[in-house]
Amino acid sequence: MNRIDRLRGTAAGKRHNARTVAALTGNPGCTRRAVLDAAGVDKVKLAERIGFPGSFGQSRFALARGNAFEAMLKADDCALLRSTLGAYVGSYEDLGVDEDGTLAARHARTRALLRGAAEGLIDHPLLTLDVAGQTVFLEPDLITHRTGAQLQVVEIKSFAIIDGQADGTAVSAAAVQAAVYVLALRQLLGDDAVSHEVVLVCPENFSLQPVAVVLDVRKQLSTLRRQLSRLASVADLVEALPSSLSFDVELPAPDLVSALSSVDARYAPECLSSCELSVYCRHESDGDTAALGRPVRDALGGVETIGEVLALASGVATPTPEQAEAAALLRAARRLRDEALSRPAGS
Ligand code: SF4
Repeated sequence: MNRIDRLRGTAAGKRHNARTVAALTGNPGCTRRAVLDAAGVDKVKLAERIGFPGSFGQSRFALARGNAFEAMLKADDCALLRSTLGAYVGSYEDLGVDEDGTLAARHARTRALLRGAAEGLIDHPLLTLDVAGQTVFLEPDLITHRTGAQLQVVEIKSFAIIDGQADGTAVSAAAVQAAVYVLALRQLLGDDAVSHEVVLVCPENFSLQPVAVVLDVRKQLSTLRRQLSRLASVADLVEALPSSLSFDVELPAPDLVSALSSVDARYAPECLSSCELSVYCRHESDGDTAALGRPVRDALGGVETIGEVLALASGVATPTPEQAEAAALLRAARRLRDEALSRPAGS
């Protein structure tokens, strides 16, 4: 067992899927997450063990709506999906009903179909991606669609596009997830074989009538590549950690909290929607300016805690040279606030 795997203790390694790979882009600067993910630590169990469980996943209502929408699109060999895509899409193969049933057989069949020249839809292909030295199987609930020389990823989502607008967070999560599939396909077939434009199919307005929109995922692809290469170099980060360090989820909670404190975290509010340890890390960073979000952290560069902010704003503390700019802004903000509060009401 190598050093990274030993961090996990006796537990089986947590396998990645497209959602967890996509989540790696959520906070690329966090060493704690990079180490735990590279070691395959089950962060849900870890968070529960230390008393800070999070609530992850879709509601039952959202899942049921998503399943109904997808089943409707795929009925009768994807008749509705074909008309939504608005193009001749050739044959339809569903690899989710493979007779053999093994992952290896399904992956081999996916490879053969994808390398073929035929135009068509491929449902439930099984892809692989290298994540921190492990081969991860991705079982996308998607269809790849060959148009001309390039493959295009089609991603079905159940959030609504209303008057041409959709929830920005949901769209960006879908774009990152689709980028994971594009990356896996490019690793298999080469960059030129797979389009950087993906098709997102969602319900339109307040009905289940589908609509297709095209998303360019080049930005998400480069972020993913960067984050995956960072994970691959996590071995160096791990070598610098104490050799006795362990995140074995069977250890007592105080030992796990102490282990967590020895790996740097970079909590930001976005963690709440992308990392299973977010409730703990938010609690740990209570009083830090970074916990208020990236704009605040950038504006207050060099001022680490809310206590320091208050002291600099009131002039009680003397700023260091790096804090001088932020301190001047804080004093000005405080002066304006005091003036506003001292003005008689209605003046
Ligand atoms: S919740 Fe914690 S471990 Fe997860 S990314 Fe944020 S700071 Fe890192």
